[in-house]
Amino acid sequence: MLTYDVIEHGKPLQARIRETPRPQGREVLIRVTRSGVCHSDLHIWDGYFDLGGGKKFYVRDRGCVPPFTVGHEPFGVVEALGPEATGVKVGDRRLVYPWIGCGKCAVCEAGQDNYCLQGRFLGVLGQGAYGTHLVIPDSKYLVDASGLDEAYAATLACSGLTAFSAIGKLPALSPRDWVAVLGCGGLGMATIAILRARGVENIIACDIDAGKLAEATAQGARLTLDTRAADALAQLKSLSGDSLAGAIDLVGMPATAELAIGALRKGGRYIMCGLFGGEITLPLPPLAQRALTIGGSYVGNLAELRELVALAQSGRLRATPVQLRPASEINRSLEELKAGTVMGRVVIDMETAG
Ligand SMILES: [Zn+2]
Ligand SMILES: [Zn+2]
Repeated sequence: MLTYDVIEHGKPLQARIRETPRPQGREVLIRVTRSGVCHSDLHIWDGYFDLGGGKKFYVRDRGCVPPFTVGHEPFGVVEALGPEATGVKVGDRRLVYPWIGCGKCAVCEAGQDNYCLQGRFLGVLGQGAYGTHLVIPDSKYLVDASGLDEAYAATLACSGLTAFSAIGKLPALSPRDWVAVLGCGGLGMATIAILRARGVENIIACDIDAGKLAEATAQGARLTLDTRAADALAQLKSLSGDSLAGAIDLVGMPATAELAIGALRKGGRYIMCGLFGGEITLPLPPLAQRALTIGGSYVGNLAELRELVALAQSGRLRATPVQLRPASEINRSLEELKAGTVMGRVVIDMETAG
């Protein structure tokens, strides 16, 4: 098998040939055909997350030590089965749920693998999808996404699932309520598409890039806000008629957090997904007085991925724009993502690896 590995943080990934693993027990060997490129790959590539105030969280402290294969949006074909594996057969084409837990602890038993402390998350804590093959511990993590474009389906494993799970944490919305989506890259597009598919029309797309805001409108956002405006907070309040019930922050920087939290109506919820980094100071009494909820959302669980795939298969979900690129363009794609110039999502065609 061939993998594209982080050899040194921040330096171009390098192709490496390794022995293709043989699946044991209930394991399934997948030949990867599509592998989505996600913004969080950048942090692992760089080697740290910015916690603000000069503090950093280094990925090596949780076991991500180069050489390391990132990538956590895999789609592929079943190539071999361990002797006890059931539920799939060789040749089946499947989307892979990447947020794989230990399978034994309380949260895993409750179906919340993504909260597991002994997780084997693909491309984060275990081998990732920037390569030709992956071993999956159990076929239950493979999702039948028949009928969907496979490059688009790959993006559902992280980008789509993150959006879906965050939306599930919004408060009950009345027809007069509004939802702000902060950050209109691939995740923002997925969030707007899923909100629309669930019947939410009062969406304000927020970004600093006019092209991305235009794309957000095409994706179904009713209003847009250029957050560079000096009076962005007043604009967000007025655009929502002082009824901003929810804000989903896919950037996660002080400016977006302060804007969203400041604009929420009473009882509103701020949901943080973005990992850009930084810190904010929050006066405490208004949290109670305005009955606000500030929460985080990290990817999603397997049941949510199955629901999301079913929603996409129903035809009600407008697909996020996807650019399919050959494996030789992995490094260029990471550089472009870092520069913020990617529209929608980039997916690598792993069948061109080599
Ligand atoms: Zn991701
Ligand atoms: Zn677990």
